[in-house]
Amino acid sequence: MEKQVKLEDIVSLAKRRGFIYQGSDVYGGLSGTWDYGPLGVQLKRNIMNLWWKMFVDERDDMYGVDAAILMNQKVWQASGHVDTFTDPLVECSNCNARHRADKLEDPNKCPTCGKEGTFGEAKQFNMMFKTNVGPVDDESSISYLRPETAQGIFTNYKNVVDSFYPDLPFGIAQQGKAFRNEISPRDFVFRSREFEQMEIEYFVAPDKWEEAFEHWVEKCKEWFAVLGLPENSVHELEVPDKDRAHYSKRTIDFDFDYPIGREELMGLAYRTDFDLMNIQNASGKSMEYRVKGSNEQFVPHVIEPSFGVERALMAVLVSAYREDEQNGEKRIYLALPEHLAPVKYAVSPLLKNKPELVEKAREVYAKLAKENPGRVMWDDNGNIGKRYRRQDEIGTPYCVVIDFQTLEDDTVTVRERDTTGQQRISSKDIMK
Ligand code: ATP
Repeated sequence: MEKQVKLEDIVSLAKRRGFIYQGSDVYGGLSGTWDYGPLGVQLKRNIMNLWWKMFVDERDDMYGVDAAILMNQKVWQASGHVDTFTDPLVECSNCNARHRADKLEDPNKCPTCGKEGTFGEAKQFNMMFKTNVGPVDDESSISYLRPETAQGIFTNYKNVVDSFYPDLPFGIAQQGKAFRNEISPRDFVFRSREFEQMEIEYFVAPDKWEEAFEHWVEKCKEWFAVLGLPENSVHELEVPDKDRAHYSKRTIDFDFDYPIGREELMGLAYRTDFDLMNIQNASGKSMEYRVKGSNEQFVPHVIEPSFGVERALMAVLVSAYREDEQNGEKRIYLALPEHLAPVKYAVSPLLKNKPELVEKAREVYAKLAKENPGRVMWDDNGNIGKRYRRQDEIGTPYCVVIDFQTLEDDTVTVRERDTTGQQRISSKDIMK
């Protein structure tokens, strides 16, 4: 029974099963913020660790950094964020609701009160969260919570070159929090005010950008495949000249078919030498790269794949969500790829009041937990049918059950999530 996944299905499962809760929930929430529960943290980490492994650890042309979230205000002046990191804001004169003008379904009608013609001219609203660093509250102490991780990479470009002098092309990667005071946060974690990015700045010789761009298009597609996103739900959108940032010569948005419609999952942009030139001009420090063994010197150009963690996680949940019928009962399950599932094995004694079964199950659990840290769950709540249903809902690929036969021949039952098929195998063979 294939069905169109609704956003409510995902939100409700995420809350019910401990993936994602509304931020500050007990106090009525804080709009645009979300808290990850035990399973959400694990899923998010699995996604982020996989990204790091694929794009940093397994490549010899990539360098990882972890820059401070608070940065010198000059960073955001030079990058253009102070002046232009804005969205158009309109206010309804009838109900005072504020909306992002370019996201309105009907630009003339307030979606809050339904009145028409109540918006005046749109104002440019800067999305950076402003704060002061240190005890003095004046112009010189202004800083911002970073609205992207990219600038933490650009500002460390020279440090990395000085320390490692890598050959071109090479990339610098960073994962971490970004903050945007979105006018209308909405659609679950899709548009949050605090979220996480995984970004790469890939530095190339100016005449080599096209091949690097193509390389990253392919790498992005490989990434979507390991996330388990169906090929036909990701769409490559060539951003036309008029919609591109002025410094970008080519941008592709990768859109995903979310339950809320086709929306941006991540972006890939050729940013020319825009950022490094800005830093060079504002700091007075040379950002030039000298090609080894020659006198050739230039400011490298940049290809930037920019991945959003929340949007990836939401696409993963949407792609994995399934409903079917088992023994006449509706079943909800997450067909998560094994390498992403927060729990890989759930271990149960068939009966929890039989000490010999519990003891043996604890043994199997301990062994599996050692091999799969953080990804093995002890589950002895309710009857076995209930346990399976709960594990299906959180996407656990394997449920391992220890019963009386285990005590005789050391075999266990391994029940597979998608097929619900069961196999009896030697406990030693579970991980083979
Ligand atoms: P949008 O047009 O949807 O606001 P954007 O084009 O401003 O997105 P970028 O500045 O290109 O987004 O940011 C890179 C990536 O960071 C996006 O593709 C997305 O995955 C993620 N991202 C951006 N804003 C948010 C947000 N408010 N909440 C969650 N993820 C976000």
